[in-house]
Amino acid sequence: MARGSGCRWLGLKDGQGKPLSTCVALATGMKCLPVDKVAKASGNVLHDWHAEVLAIRAFNRFLVDECADLAAKGMSGISDFLKWRGAHETEHLALQSAVKKQQTTSTVTERGRSPTSGTDEHEGRRTTDALSNLAYMDGQQPFEVRDDVKIYMYISEAPCGDASMELTMAAQEDATPWPIPVTEPPHESSDNHLTFHDTFLVHPPSAPKMLGRGHFDRLGIVRRKPARPDAPPTLSKSCSDKLALKQCTSLLSSLVSLLVHPGNAYLSTLVLPESQYVQSACERAFGAQGRLAPLTDPEVSSRWTGTGYAFVPFTVLPTSREFRYSRRSTAAGEELVPSNLSSLCTPWRQEMLINGVLQGRKQFDPKGASTVCRRSMWRLVAQVVVATAVATGSRRTEPLDRILEKRTYRQVKDANDLEGRKRVKVAVQDVLGGWVRNDGDENWSRDGSNLK
Ligand SMILES: [Zn+2]
Repeated sequence: MARGSGCRWLGLKDGQGKPLSTCVALATGMKCLPVDKVAKASGNVLHDWHAEVLAIRAFNRFLVDECADLAAKGMSGISDFLKWRGAHETEHLALQSAVKKQQTTSTVTERGRSPTSGTDEHEGRRTTDALSNLAYMDGQQPFEVRDDVKIYMYISEAPCGDASMELTMAAQEDATPWPIPVTEPPHESSDNHLTFHDTFLVHPPSAPKMLGRGHFDRLGIVRRKPARPDAPPTLSKSCSDKLALKQCTSLLSSLVSLLVHPGNAYLSTLVLPESQYVQSACERAFGAQGRLAPLTDPEVSSRWTGTGYAFVPFTVLPTSREFRYSRRSTAAGEELVPSNLSSLCTPWRQEMLINGVLQGRKQFDPKGASTVCRRSMWRLVAQVVVATAVATGSRRTEPLDRILEKRTYRQVKDANDLEGRKRVKVAVQDVLGGWVRNDGDENWSRDGSNLK
C-alpha cells in the first residue's frame, strides 16, 4: 500500500443493535484533478478520488445497483438496505407474504385444486395495487433506505482539511505555516477560462482564496485538497469540508437523490483510528457546536422544511484498530513504495483506477469511464427510472424522466426537482464561507457528446 493512500469504507448496521455490519463500499484513494483539466473530464473522469470521496461514490453506485435489482424483482422484491418508498417493513412484509400466498394459491388453482380462484385473483390484484400505492406516498423518489439500517464509515487516516489540521501541525518540525502558493489565472484562450472567470466572480481577487495545507494555524476554514506546492492547482474541496456538507445533503449524490429519498441516507457514525482522532478538531469541523453551529438556528432549518433534508451531525468515534496497510502498521523490514493506484469495491463491482479513470486507459478516453463517474451514474439512474415504471405499472416516474432526458448535465443539475438540495447546499456553503466552486465540466450529454 502506498504511503499517503488510505482505506475508507461504509458499512451498515441493524438499527435494533443486532451485530450486523456489512461492508457495502470500500475504497482506497489518491488525489484529484487539477483545475486546468476539469473542463476536459466530460463527466467521464472523476474530479476527486481521495478515498473518502471514492468510497461515497461507490456507496451511491451500490444504492443504484440495489435500486436496479429491486426494480427488476418488482414491487414484492426485498433488499437488505433499500425498500420501495413508503412501505413500512412490517406492512410491506405482510403485503409481500399476501402476494406470495396469492401466487401459491394461483399455482394451486392452475392445477385445478381451488374452487375460489376468482376471488383469489381479485385479492392478488388488490394487494399488488396496495404495494404500488405505498411506494409513492408523498414524494417522487421510488426508494428509501430501510428504517432498520444505520450507515457507518471507517476511515484509516484523518480526513484532509480542517479535521486534520492539528495532526498536520504536530507533524511539523517547524510549526511556521507554509507560504500560500500563488496561482495565476490561465490565458483567456484556454478551455478552463470559464471556471476561473466564475471563480473570480464569486471570489474577487481581493478575497482570500482556498488554502490547502498552507497557514495551518487557521482553523475552521474551507480548504482545497492539499498537494505539494509544485503540484498543479485544484479547486476540489478537502474531505473534511465535503463530509461536513454531507451532514446536510445526506450521502446521496444529486442524481441518486432523484431515486432514493435522503431521509435515512445520512452517515450515522464516522470511525477513526485513535492515532488520527483529535476530538476538538472533529467537533470544530463537523459538530453542531463547531463551524456549522449557525445551521442549528431554527430560522435556517425552517427554510429547509419540505426539502427532505436536515442538519444531521454524525458521531465521530475513535477505534484502536488501524488499517492493516496504514503507514503506521508497517512491520520491521517492510518497505513503503509509492503507487498511483486507487480502488473501489462494492458487493456488485470492483475497479482499479489511475488518475480518475480505469487502469489501463488513457485519462480522457471515454472507454476509461469508471462505473461511479457522473456520466455512468446518469445513464444508470435513467435506466432504473424506466425499470421502476415497468415494475410499478405507474406513470408517476414521468417527472423523473423529464429531468433525466435533459440535454446536458448542467440542465439536469438545474432542474427544479433538485432545487431543495441546491438550497441546502448553498446554505451550508454560506455558513462555511470561502467555498469556491469547481465548475466547468457540465456541458456534456448522457450519450457521450460534449456540447459547447
Ligand atoms: Zn482527502
